[in-house]
Amino acid sequence: MAKRDYYEILGVSQNASESDIKKAYRRLAMKYHPDRNTGDTDAEVRFKEAKEAYEVLSDGQKRAAYDQFGHAGVDPSAGGGGRGGFGGGGADFSDIFSDVFGDIFGGGRGGGGRAFRGADLRYRMEISLEEAVEGVERDIRIPTQVRCEACDGSGAAPGSTPETCPTCHGHGDVRVQQGFFSIQQTCPRCSGTGEVIADPCVQCGGNGTVPDQKTLNVRIPAGVDTGDRIRLSGEGEPGEQGGPAGDLYVEVAVKPHPIFTRDGSDLRCEIPLAFTTAALGGEIEVPTLDGRVTLRVPSGTQSGKVFRIRGKGVKPVRGGAQGDLLCRVSVETPVNLTGRQKELLEELAETLEDGGEHHNPRGSSWLDSVKKFFEGMKF
Ligand SMILES: [Zn+2]
Ligand SMILES: [Zn+2]
Repeated sequence: MAKRDYYEILGVSQNASESDIKKAYRRLAMKYHPDRNTGDTDAEVRFKEAKEAYEVLSDGQKRAAYDQFGHAGVDPSAGGGGRGGFGGGGADFSDIFSDVFGDIFGGGRGGGGRAFRGADLRYRMEISLEEAVEGVERDIRIPTQVRCEACDGSGAAPGSTPETCPTCHGHGDVRVQQGFFSIQQTCPRCSGTGEVIADPCVQCGGNGTVPDQKTLNVRIPAGVDTGDRIRLSGEGEPGEQGGPAGDLYVEVAVKPHPIFTRDGSDLRCEIPLAFTTAALGGEIEVPTLDGRVTLRVPSGTQSGKVFRIRGKGVKPVRGGAQGDLLCRVSVETPVNLTGRQKELLEELAETLEDGGEHHNPRGSSWLDSVKKFFEGMKF
């Protein structure tokens, strides 16, 4: 059974004053005294524990040694697993400990020994509108770390080998006392690998890995739009000191399309319409993302009129009904007319002149508005 921390036993903080320690011990001693707890073995254990803790913490020198080295600093029988290793390594006992504790408590390395999650990566992927609507699979190349070939991943310069970490003796972790708690922590010297590199590889600087690129197959679901993100869990930067890798976010950017614009789940397009077709009515071909459809244009169609073609929009990636295709017609005035064509139009114009509102509903109502506007003005 692991030995409990003395401060924890007495229920005081590591900064507790001498009198605090004394008070705490008195309270426990009263509570667990054998005279008061006859036959209670648990109380007996606690009483002994408290007594031992008090003996150490009430003695300035012992307390300092305990603060620095833990149980091993005050009790020769309390070395635990590490003790055999100290002798074997021939290293000085206190040097090793000050090394460990210096790193952790001294803050020299700032959080040494803690596992860090790798950073998230963002990748911007440009796709066409068709790909956004249909979904697409793409291979992308992203930065990563690969095994260094020069040192075969060991991080040690060719010809040398990593040595067993003198701090943790290859265990990869150390026990430290923090306040009331005894915590097992990743060895700050070797980051948990159990090995240290005396002569680091020049190629990778001792990391054992070098930057490279990796290819990932990314499946973009149908219906995505600009700004949508696809998360590839664990494909970000690798974690440090045993921490998990970050995630990779693939951010979709849909390229502008020559014909269609996206409007939520709808698509919009602008269709030029011959003025004769607009006047007489007829059928026109309208492009869709997956082909074409025939649109019936009624006679007398005005410029700006929007026709809705159901189900030819986008099926949203988050579910819901497929959108529509909205075609806005723009009536086109003929250009480069021949003399004959002009004559025909002049003839037409003469027949329309007297028609007024009957032939030009928009123009007439607009003229009315203009008239009212002038009438309302005070000259
Ligand atoms: Zn290397
Ligand atoms: Zn180590």
